[in-house]
Amino acid sequence: MLSLHGAIVSGENASRSREMIMARNRIQFQKGLSETRFQALYGDEETCRALVVAWRWPSGFVCPKCGGVDHCMVGPRRLYQCNACRRQTSPTAGTVFASTKVPLTTWFRAMYLITQTKQGISSIELGRRLGTTQTTAWKIKTKLAEVMRIAGDKERLSGRIEMDDAYLGGEKGGGKTGRGSPGKKPIVVAVQTDEKGRPRKIKLRRIARFKRARVKALAKRIIAPGSTVVTDGLACFRGLADAGCEHIALATGGGRRAARHPSFKWVNTMIGNIKTAIVATYRSARKKHMVRTLAEFEWRFNHRVDLAAMIPALGRAAATAKPAPYWWLKTADYGA
Ligand SMILES: [Zn+2]
Repeated sequence: MLSLHGAIVSGENASRSREMIMARNRIQFQKGLSETRFQALYGDEETCRALVVAWRWPSGFVCPKCGGVDHCMVGPRRLYQCNACRRQTSPTAGTVFASTKVPLTTWFRAMYLITQTKQGISSIELGRRLGTTQTTAWKIKTKLAEVMRIAGDKERLSGRIEMDDAYLGGEKGGGKTGRGSPGKKPIVVAVQTDEKGRPRKIKLRRIARFKRARVKALAKRIIAPGSTVVTDGLACFRGLADAGCEHIALATGGGRRAARHPSFKWVNTMIGNIKTAIVATYRSARKKHMVRTLAEFEWRFNHRVDLAAMIPALGRAAATAKPAPYWWLKTADYGA
């Protein structure tokens, strides 16, 4: 992994570098949500149910069939019965929390375990911590990652952005040697930085091939027009200008020198972190599920400034997202 400390530091760069390290440390050493605090906030089924209800119907119950709001509670499961059409609705039906045999407290614990780790958690480990089978843990994890993927598609990067290509899987060590070698999965890493050059938000997207038209299509989805995008000048990145961005191609000479160029610090640090996380957590970045692995990493990074707020943010997204069927989760793959 390319580290910040590996960068050539002098003069102005030295102070910028110190600033970057401090910014990183502030986030790294930030107190997360302790187990005890989590348990107090989300430890019982009743609280979890009330939260799902509040997230799903922020202005009160709305019948999914007829839109009616008048209702009563019926039966031991306390279903919401619409006074107009008599339809009975469970608070979790039609949400991501639906159709699992596990209680909501298990879902909340899964959200806790998935969001409070920096490296990600494998479904084997998740199952062990939740006390479920690995298959159940895999379903929960995959459904939540899908929620993160959908949420990540709603917002685009803007301002100053560093963009680079990277390859996951099928290699030892990082760097850009072997650009496009067989067996590696190409991805695009984009990092939005603030006026002080600190990373704000990231986008990690699979791309089928590094072709100008594909980069253009991808840029339109993830970057607001008028943004400034810095790259190392790989030919396909001309697609950024086609997408309405200002493209600054740095002549870095490629290879390791490009990696050490100050304009690429963040994007390269990010690529290193992703590789480390994926190698540590998953046997391999399996092509089929890589998009969700990336979405999970992206979501965690983009919400990192407030660890405690991650659970409500993810919970709200899950309570309002349509559930993806199991067969679809098993087979879906996306690329630009
Ligand atoms: Zn109704």
